[in-house]
Amino acid sequence: MTEERDMGLALRRGFFGRCPTCGQGHMFKGYLAVVDECAHCGEPLGAYPAADGPAFFTITIVMLLLIPMIGFTWVVFRSDPVTMLLVLGGITTVMTLVLLRYVKGAFIGYLWAKDEQDQGA
Ligand SMILES: [Zn+2]
Repeated sequence: MTEERDMGLALRRGFFGRCPTCGQGHMFKGYLAVVDECAHCGEPLGAYPAADGPAFFTITIVMLLLIPMIGFTWVVFRSDPVTMLLVLGGITTVMTLVLLRYVKGAFIGYLWAKDEQDQGA
């Protein structure tokens, strides 16, 4: 592997669910399943092993956002704990499900830029 791959561009294309190589083909079939190869350029996107990486980063981002949300809600609204749990639980769930797809796309873009294909080990 000698060619230099553009990390920023790959992250951006991946974030929006596009193939990091050409930016044209779709990366996902359905919600989170990655296509075996790009329909536009044939890049083997299924060979990049995202594994638990996207889930880890999504949890980290959501938790970092949740901490100030809990503080803000507690101080400003003084709501009772059960209401707070239900409202923030709902917001957290939706936020996680929405973010996960974008983070997974960007993560595969990162793996593509680093040429980290599954070696079958
Ligand atoms: Zn492509």
